[in-house]
Amino acid sequence: MEGKLLVSCQAPDEDPFAQPESLARFARTAEMGGAAGIRANGMADVRAIRDVVKLPLIAIDKQVWSDGRILITGSLERARELLRTTGAEMIAVDVTARGQRFGALDRVRALKQDGAIVLADIARVEEAVAAVEAGADAVLSTMHGYTDETAHTTGFDPGLIAVLRQAVPVPVIAEGRIHRPEQAAAAMQAGAWAVIVGTAITRPEVITRGFVEAVERAGRGSAGDVLGIDMGGTNTKYGVVTADGALRGQGFVPTPGGGGAALLAHLKKVALELTAQARGDGFRPATLGVATAGWVDPHTGRVAYATENLPGWTGTRIAEELQGATGLPVYVENDANALAAAESRFGAARDVRDFVCITLGTGVGGGCYTNGRLNHGAHFFANALGHIPIVMDGLPCTCGLRGCLEVYANASALVRYAGDGFGDAEQVIAAARGGDAKAREAVLTLARYLAFGTASIVQLLDPELLVLAGGVVQENELLLEALRAELRARLTVPEQRALRVETSGLGYYAGVYGAAAVALERG
Ligand SMILES: [Zn+2]
Repeated sequence: MEGKLLVSCQAPDEDPFAQPESLARFARTAEMGGAAGIRANGMADVRAIRDVVKLPLIAIDKQVWSDGRILITGSLERARELLRTTGAEMIAVDVTARGQRFGALDRVRALKQDGAIVLADIARVEEAVAAVEAGADAVLSTMHGYTDETAHTTGFDPGLIAVLRQAVPVPVIAEGRIHRPEQAAAAMQAGAWAVIVGTAITRPEVITRGFVEAVERAGRGSAGDVLGIDMGGTNTKYGVVTADGALRGQGFVPTPGGGGAALLAHLKKVALELTAQARGDGFRPATLGVATAGWVDPHTGRVAYATENLPGWTGTRIAEELQGATGLPVYVENDANALAAAESRFGAARDVRDFVCITLGTGVGGGCYTNGRLNHGAHFFANALGHIPIVMDGLPCTCGLRGCLEVYANASALVRYAGDGFGDAEQVIAAARGGDAKAREAVLTLARYLAFGTASIVQLLDPELLVLAGGVVQENELLLEALRAELRARLTVPEQRALRVETSGLGYYAGVYGAAAVALERG
């Protein structure tokens, strides 16, 4: 099977093809088409397929498990029976974090002791490492995007294949959300040992729907769709935002290290691929919006200044370069400003003319709208909310100054307030939700500092709404409540202001919405 395509022949219960004879026919056509192996589910299907094809078979056993969700090969007895009675050469087991909670590693060890070839379906690198330590013969990216921990991802990510390839010494098989031959090729180029495709080959209903959407989209002749790219320090996210505000074709790729030239080449590549993919799917890209770290001249789309985190980025003429590459009008904005634009057009601040968006994560940033317009300042350096001084000669900040709001309200501040025993902000927030006294006190301390810094912003701008975004506010209702109370105590005429404090609802692709919002605003 090395270097080959395998086909997954499965259908959900309600699919007219969901019967062993139909799936065996799919397997037969896959064999005729040159596939080198078949993946199939359950005793009846695997047996029917064994009867008509000579290819190696990967068997799985999907069952509704005790938490009410499907688990792949959750029972050792059924796995053994499947191998014994169907003639399948291999068995795949869900070894995700959830699978492991239901004993997956023990199942892998036991099946290996039986002498079986065991494949591990995983979603994350650490799960692959654990599976291989337990004896798995290969890892499959099948579950990426389908577990709680990876649910925020969409689309196939060849970057995961490359990372898995580095992390484990066994074959890495790419599976999951591979819908086009180009994606299968990208998986091989990223180091996959083989590729498994299912839906795109064996689900005529889904294939039909893809054509239907492309035809109807192209036939509508809409005013035009907007492309958005959000280049962050870790990942570059992208997508198409349609005229009615829906996000389509979204995904992300890792942002490369290196200097400005490497970043620009990366951004051009993402822009070109996104444009081609959008056109191929029947969209009509009219403009491209880009969000990036650093201060940006919104009129020229040139980076006015970027810190040493992005060496050589200062002075890059992003709009000009991408316009030349894609042929589309390109609009560029600072990433925190773009988030405010996203809230203004698509989020909590629709129909609000005066609001401030504050992002609390590794850093603290923001964007301010006054009288319906994003404030840039005279040199495009406005909205550096994280560097508002709140403690005279306080703790040193990454910007070189001391006592900045960021040092007292970012993710590492929260961990610092919580003291020993907490690895990251997420853990502190979870513990606070669970009632842990130290963690709750840490959240309340951060709320006090945040209120202190935010009060000066509110006094200056008198906004109607504060929108909070970023990791520190995720599922952190305690912070929100405390901030509301602390702010009331620190503002003049709080009763007359009717100031609302809300969290962003735009999720993982907020920056893509933001980039698109910037393009819509200016285009
Ligand atoms: Zn600072």
